[in-house]
Amino acid sequence: MTDVFADLVGQDEAVVTLRRAAASAAALLRAAAPAVSRTGAPVAGGADPDGGHDDLDALAEQADGPGAARDRAGADPGAGMTHAWIFTGPPGSGRSVAARAFAAALQCVHGTGCGHCPGCHTTLTGTHADVRLVVPEGLSIGVNEMRALVLRAASTPSGGRWQIVIIEDADRLTEAAGNALLKAIEEPPPRTVFLLCAPSTHPDDISVTIRSRCRVVPLRQPPAGAVAEVLVRRDGIAPDVAEWAAAAAQGHVGRARRLARDPEARQRRDAVLAVPRRLTGVGAAFDAASALIEAAEAEAAASVAELDEAERAALQTALGAGGTGRGAAGAMRGAAGQLKDLEKRQKSRATRAQRDALDRALVDLAGFYRDALTMALRAPVAPVHTDTAALAGAGAQKWDAEGALRRLEAVLECRAAIEANVKPRIAVEAMMLSLWKG
Ligand SMILES: [Zn+2]
Repeated sequence: MTDVFADLVGQDEAVVTLRRAAASAAALLRAAAPAVSRTGAPVAGGADPDGGHDDLDALAEQADGPGAARDRAGADPGAGMTHAWIFTGPPGSGRSVAARAFAAALQCVHGTGCGHCPGCHTTLTGTHADVRLVVPEGLSIGVNEMRALVLRAASTPSGGRWQIVIIEDADRLTEAAGNALLKAIEEPPPRTVFLLCAPSTHPDDISVTIRSRCRVVPLRQPPAGAVAEVLVRRDGIAPDVAEWAAAAAQGHVGRARRLARDPEARQRRDAVLAVPRRLTGVGAAFDAASALIEAAEAEAAASVAELDEAERAALQTALGAGGTGRGAAGAMRGAAGQLKDLEKRQKSRATRAQRDALDRALVDLAGFYRDALTMALRAPVAPVHTDTAALAGAGAQKWDAEGALRRLEAVLECRAAIEANVKPRIAVEAMMLSLWKG
């Protein structure tokens, strides 16, 4: 089975909800279509002749009878269609994969997310005219970007189905951008659907008022077995490598694929997992902190360098660099402003990339101390890092459960501190000292 939900690994419950909603959405569209069936016969329950009531609730009532939308929403939150959704789950659980798959199912000309029709295909490849994807590159999504988006999303869908806005990392909305979005969600244009992705529905991630207008689709951390299975099936990775990578990535599908395929990613992970062994004194702890920060900076710089350069070149071409004559001076001043804006955006993106790289390293490190803890407790669970299990076992003997737990907590505190905007170097140095002293 290769429909649009095939890549949503280990999320059976969410897939059932989304399939049902897509089917319901297709029924709404059929009910709103001109009251003539494909055979040409008149159909009962067709569109309102005024055409003025085609918002979702009215459509639902046409499809299922008066009050059906309300009853359904109250009785069974998994059924039916609504105009705003939040996909939550830990990083790598597939929030944006789920949102894209659902968007494809809504645009599917068969209404089921077949995976083959033009609606499914263009949505999944990012070229559907009625699907807009917001991927924040910097630390936050600004209000101007959001206002422009909301405005465009209010237009009639050109494909005759739905206007869909997918917002990845909705937790990075600025407050003003959140308010602009809230307005659109509170008074939704008739055929517009908002799909938000966020780590959780905690008020730090998504405002309570936005949350109250959305249906939540919780995704779980997919089990390692399911991740390994998809790496083998879809990416053609050897089963033993897939199993190792799925365990090491702790349920993060994208990370597992990268570990399985990219030798540099494996080397970076090896360097991180060598940290516990290197912590032999204060000086070594500071050295380890520097190494970790610098590795994250290098990884981030490599990941954005190509894009930065391409954007700069594109902007310079668009501005016609080197123009002379009347108006050229004014144009140059405008150009300087645009270049400055671009540099600002790129800097923000680079900072984000650094934090993401550092966070990946910290998650690996946390996995190591988690292994030491479970071994000290003799808990019957598989280690995260099978290749450093012996080292974690030695740590378990030396530190006992309490010492392993303190170290695990030090790593988690470091992540929380960086998330709360503590300077990464300061947070990492504090963590390394705790890891050394225990
Ligand atoms: Zn389709």
